[in-house]
Amino acid sequence: MSATLIRGTEIRDEILKEIKAEVDRIKEEHGVVPGLVTILVGEDPASVSYVTAKIRTAQGLGYKEVQDNRSEDIAEEELLSLIEKYNRDESIHGILVQLPLPKHVDEKRVLNAVDPDKDVDGFHPVNVGRLMIGGSEVKFPPCTPAGIQELIVRSGVETEGAEVVVVGRSNIVGKPIANMLLQKAPGANATVTVAHTRTRDLAYHCKRADILIVAAGVPGLVKPEWLKPGACVIDVGVNRVGEKISEKTGKKVAILKGDVDFDKAKEIAGYITPVPGGVGPMTITMLMRNTLNSLKFHLGIA
Ligand code: NAD
Repeated sequence: MSATLIRGTEIRDEILKEIKAEVDRIKEEHGVVPGLVTILVGEDPASVSYVTAKIRTAQGLGYKEVQDNRSEDIAEEELLSLIEKYNRDESIHGILVQLPLPKHVDEKRVLNAVDPDKDVDGFHPVNVGRLMIGGSEVKFPPCTPAGIQELIVRSGVETEGAEVVVVGRSNIVGKPIANMLLQKAPGANATVTVAHTRTRDLAYHCKRADILIVAAGVPGLVKPEWLKPGACVIDVGVNRVGEKISEKTGKKVAILKGDVDFDKAKEIAGYITPVPGGVGPMTITMLMRNTLNSLKFHLGIA
């Protein structure tokens, strides 16, 4: 048996098309576009490349995009007043502070300064609380978990009553996706187990999963023999396991592997995400959707 591949790039393109159509319609009817500011402190190459990808996507959708790059030695108070400025700016609906921040800055203090109604990353405690309550309380689900839920739903995988096992309990992936899938809501209603480093028998839990979501950051952690035949496997892990020369550019690029042994797992699973090209492309897409939704909340049309 060979699993159906859940192609994140195709689902991303489909969602971006939907977002663009909505942005065009809102622009015509209300004369406004979503506004997103990206705040980048310093020049960490990975952060620069993430921010560049976010900016390009926002521009492609016709968003107002403000890039606010600051030097590594910015004072914490200056960063806080910058955030306050964008909190008050009515043309900005989403504020994104690229992490990590330099060590002299209190990351928590900075993130908590973002207006929860512009917190399109969904990391502010108010939005974490809203997510926990569920239903109409939810404004900005965090982007990677929201992307995972879209991949599952758009692939036609039934979540209602499904045994979902999440491996990993981080605040950005494991905990929020577990919380989202247990809600009384369409695309959820699952029975969720969260496994982590102190879990006694990881194999036992994985074997029970109709939907297995692995976000541990350990290459090959989940063995193919731990999979229930026909299960839906969402591999969130992105692990750099070496380097190769890109055929396209001739430049050195990282070899990426997930937390699941893809080649063997695809013979047992019913659905599976590849790495790269599975969950990865969804994160920025969901950031764009949260920013659009922020504008809709602002206009009272959500
Ligand atoms: P994290 O390091 O914060 O958390 C990892 C979690 O996995 C921890 O809760 C830990 O308890 C659990 N874990 C680790 N080893 C384990 C083991 N041997 N057995 C059971 N549980 C174990 O990581 P994170 O930020 O949640 O990210 C997880 C992975 O997902 C990373 O590879 C990361 O790069 C990737 N990721 C991808 C995207 C994306 O594609 N857009 C976004 C976020 C994270």
